[in-house]
Amino acid sequence: MLNAIKDASESGLVFCFAGVGSAFAKLNAQTSLIIAKHRKTLLVDIGTNIPQALHEKGISICDFDFYHVTHSHADHIGGVEELLLLSRYVKRKKPQLIITPTYQDILWEKSLKGGCEYNEQGMLRFSDFITPLWPEWVGATPREVYRIRVGDIALEIFRTIHIPAEVTRWEQAFWSTGLCVDGRALFTADTRFDPSMFRDIDTSHVEAIFHDCQLGGPGLVHATYDELKTLPADLKKKIYLTHYSDNHKEFDPRKDGFHGFSEPWKIYKWE
Ligand SMILES: [Zn+2]
Ligand SMILES: [Zn+2]
Repeated sequence: MLNAIKDASESGLVFCFAGVGSAFAKLNAQTSLIIAKHRKTLLVDIGTNIPQALHEKGISICDFDFYHVTHSHADHIGGVEELLLLSRYVKRKKPQLIITPTYQDILWEKSLKGGCEYNEQGMLRFSDFITPLWPEWVGATPREVYRIRVGDIALEIFRTIHIPAEVTRWEQAFWSTGLCVDGRALFTADTRFDPSMFRDIDTSHVEAIFHDCQLGGPGLVHATYDELKTLPADLKKKIYLTHYSDNHKEFDPRKDGFHGFSEPWKIYKWE
C-alpha cells in the first residue's frame, strides 16, 4: 500500500489516512495521516493501534522518511514507543521526527521516558532514538506558528486549543498543533470548535480541511458535528470530518453541507 501512495505522489501532494477514528473507535483505527510528495513520506500521529493498522496493509511503522506528532494523547502517540524501540534495536536507524524543542522535552519527559530510558549501557535520552528536525519559529501572533520543509513538503505547524476543557486561548492550552501542508490542505488534528483558527491561519488557498469531529455532544475538548454545522457554507464544503466515532453511519455530512467523512486508505491528491 505504501508503494501505491508513493506512486500517486510522483506528480504532487497526497494525503492518505491510516486511521480516521476517535480515541475509542473500534471500527476504524485512530486518526493518523500519511502525507507523501515526490515519493517522500511523512507519518503524522501514531496512536496505540496504528502500528497494527499499518501492518495490515503491509507497512512497517519504520517505513516512513519523516514523522510528526501533534499532541500527547495516546490515540496520537501510543505507538511512538514501538517506533523508537523497533528503530533502535531492530532496524538500527533513527527516525527523523519533526518536533519543536519545547514539545520534544514535554513528549520525552511526560510520556516516552518511562518505557525507553533504560538500556544495558545506562540511561538514554530522546536524541539517542531520533534525529529531531526543528521547525523555524515564525511568530506567536495571533497564534504560534512554525514552518519547515521536508523533501518537497512545506509544513506550517500551528497551535490549537484542545485541552483542558476550561481554557479559551491557545496560550493557556496544553501543547497541541495542527498542520497546513503546501498551503493547500489543512489537518486540524485534535481541536475544540475554534472558528478563530480560520482567521489566524491563511486558508485562502486551502482546498481541503480535514477536521476533528465529535459526533455526539457536548464538545468539551473536541469540535462537535453540530458546532461545525454552524460554520459558513464555503468553508464547510471543504471540510472532511476525521477522528469520528463508530456511530458515523447515523450521519449524512454531505446533506449538512460538509464535503463528507474522510475515508481510511483513500488517496487524496493535489497535482
Ligand atoms: Zn485524538
Ligand atoms: Zn487529543
